Amino acid sequence: MAHVHPMNAPTDVFRQHLIDPEICIRCNTCEETCPIDAISHDERNYVVDPAKCENCTACIAPCPTGAIDSWRQVPRSAVYTIEQQLGWDALPPQQGTPGAAETATDLPPDVARIVARATAGQGGESPPPWSAAHPYVNLHAAAKPAVATVSGNFRLTADDASSDVRHLVLDFGQVAFPVLEGQTVGILPPGVDAHGRPHHPRLYSVASPREGERPRYNNLALTVKRVTEDHDGTPVRGVASNFLCDLAKGDTVQVIGPFGTSFLMPNHPGANLLMVCTGTGSAPMRAMTERRRRRIGLGEGGSLMLFFGARRAEELPYFGPLMKLPGDFIDINFAFSRAAGEPKRYVQDRIRERGADVARLLADPDTFVYVCGLKGMEAGVAEAFADACRAHGQDWDALLPALRQQGRYHLETY
Ligand code: NAP
Repeated sequence: MAHVHPMNAPTDVFRQHLIDPEICIRCNTCEETCPIDAISHDERNYVVDPAKCENCTACIAPCPTGAIDSWRQVPRSAVYTIEQQLGWDALPPQQGTPGAAETATDLPPDVARIVARATAGQGGESPPPWSAAHPYVNLHAAAKPAVATVSGNFRLTADDASSDVRHLVLDFGQVAFPVLEGQTVGILPPGVDAHGRPHHPRLYSVASPREGERPRYNNLALTVKRVTEDHDGTPVRGVASNFLCDLAKGDTVQVIGPFGTSFLMPNHPGANLLMVCTGTGSAPMRAMTERRRRRIGLGEGGSLMLFFGARRAEELPYFGPLMKLPGDFIDINFAFSRAAGEPKRYVQDRIRERGADVARLLADPDTFVYVCGLKGMEAGVAEAFADACRAHGQDWDALLPALRQQGRYHLETY
């Protein structure tokens, strides 16, 4: 975990490292790992001594359950003592945000700003799905980033496509960098900006499932579009995207994170995923779809429905692999906005066309919705959901607050 930097931390607030007694399996790994003996236990609980812990995070990655990755912002005058922790059956709620274990204030300030903007359309991050796995966050901070080696850099868009979108595979070697589908990582571009300061980190969604792009390898994939113009079409050279797109096999990259405690996939059998994306917003959908594809043989049930917008098929990342997926595994709906000889179509149009199925899925308590891509799609997609509901006997205005509250509606738009 990155700490709130002392310069940014209100002096009366302490970020306390704790162990979740409900999840902990009492395996002693953390106590063995801690280099300064800040962790101890009795017959009931494992606990962290607030006077000793220096938040070095050495204990975080080895913990098999994630119980160790528990934090609370507490007034310095009310830090939880070892004696209090030994008596707990469950962690106390975070003051101010009941039940929340992590808040944006835990993130590095520049990352918190990006996350706040990406989730603004839904009024901030929703809680995660109830059955999501516990995510690790902030394991590697900018002061000491993980160094990954590029093990592959493949162009996803056709040679004659106007966009250069790449599937980049990063290998972490012996460094622990555990991620879940839907999480993001921060890339630190080398060099300095126009003011001579290190570049801000850029966030990219992980495009591979939790057990690695290649199963049991310590690697992950990103989907990166070479930025050559801004949203208004003015030519600009994206610092991080050009750096990443130009990397060759064997080059190294500084990575921070992982980040994200909300846009996570449900783990329970029978969960449905309703995914809407444009362009490289497909990265988390690819991760979730691939996770489910690898588990087809387990017969866990639940359906996948995808709405995917791009200018043309040639510009659509992962078009080839998506076309090979069986129709009874995933219901794919493409929307091409600039295909020759076809009317302009956005994902919203396809959602309306499939309104009956969309409304049925939205009403199912096992359905989890993910929207990722261009900021501009956000309002249009919500209106399309509302229209689908109206046309098929559902009340979107009542449904949306419930979806958010239950961690079933997740937006990430840039
Ligand atoms: P793009 O190619 O510019 O656009 C993809 C499609 O979306 C096009 O068909 C476009 O149509 C359409 N579109 C434009 N405005 C829309 C609207 N208001 N509603 C619905 N569809 C609309 O996309 P991109 O450049 O890949 O951008 C993807 C976005 O995802 C970026 O903002 C990126 O930051 C974000 N993102 C990326 C990652 C990642 O890991 N790389 C992760 C999360 C999010 P027309 O242009 O023809 O109108």
